[in-house]
Amino acid sequence: MLKVCVVGAAGRMGRHLVSNISSSEVMTLSGAVDRNDSPFLGQDAGALAGVAPTGVGISADLDFALAHSDAMINFATANVVDSARLAMKYGCSIVIGSTILTAEEQDELKELATNGARIVVAKNMSVGVNLLFKLVGEAAKALGEDYEVEIVEMHHDQKIDAPSGTAVRLAEIVCEGRKWSYANDVKHGRCGVIGKRPKREIGMHSLRGGDVVGDHTVIFAINGERIELTHKAASRDSFARGALRAVEFLADAAPGMYDMQDVLKLK
Ligand code: NAD
Repeated sequence: MLKVCVVGAAGRMGRHLVSNISSSEVMTLSGAVDRNDSPFLGQDAGALAGVAPTGVGISADLDFALAHSDAMINFATANVVDSARLAMKYGCSIVIGSTILTAEEQDELKELATNGARIVVAKNMSVGVNLLFKLVGEAAKALGEDYEVEIVEMHHDQKIDAPSGTAVRLAEIVCEGRKWSYANDVKHGRCGVIGKRPKREIGMHSLRGGDVVGDHTVIFAINGERIELTHKAASRDSFARGALRAVEFLADAAPGMYDMQDVLKLK
């Protein structure tokens, strides 16, 4: 059994990770770490996640947790690189889902990977979304530039940024296939008398409402037909399942920095 420490364990994603690890047959929860002023310190991580008690309490002692773990999954909203450094010291593999990393922090992680760490980083760990990335790349290549691309995403009303990181990535994938640039060729929403749609344009539209976890559709349209590729996440479990796949992947991987396309063998 792989011993897995969850960092950010009291958060929304942390709880889904704990509940998925609890029902896994190949891994067990070895640590559940959160910040040292978390109101949940001392509570059983399983009970907090709404599943059977795990016997592992929410703790702020990252050192102790990593010393007893094979892998760290980190979805915390602070100190991600410091914890990666510590995980490396204890020989733990490292899975990072937090989306707070700056470019400098990503470079620091790359350096850790060059020096022997095994790391998976992905802003979206959903297996389905990562397959969508692959399919959109293939579609963009096969269909060519005559097909007009529109991207529509919908999220819950608490989301504070738009478009979603996943929608941005989808647009980047289309741009990469066409040698276009995100900065110049993506049009965010349309309003008023804006004239006919230029051919060289990717339309980007963000919808907000209710408790939608995350819907993404990429439309390729041309006279006479259109192709729509859609992914809908109904629960954060989709991200947690991907993180667990990443832990399994790293158990046999050489040191290095990987993404979910590596984990799912989509490259
Ligand atoms: P959240 O605010 O519910 O949880 C974050 C948790 O991290 C909190 O419990 C907080 O106390 C804890 N934390 C903060 N600082 C810490 C520290 N120094 N050490 C340990 N724990 C610390 O947020 P969330 O919705 O669970 O999302 C967490 C992160 O995961 C965000 O960056 C979010 O964008 C990202 N996310 C990524 C994916 C993906 O697929 N990669 C999916 C969903 C969310």
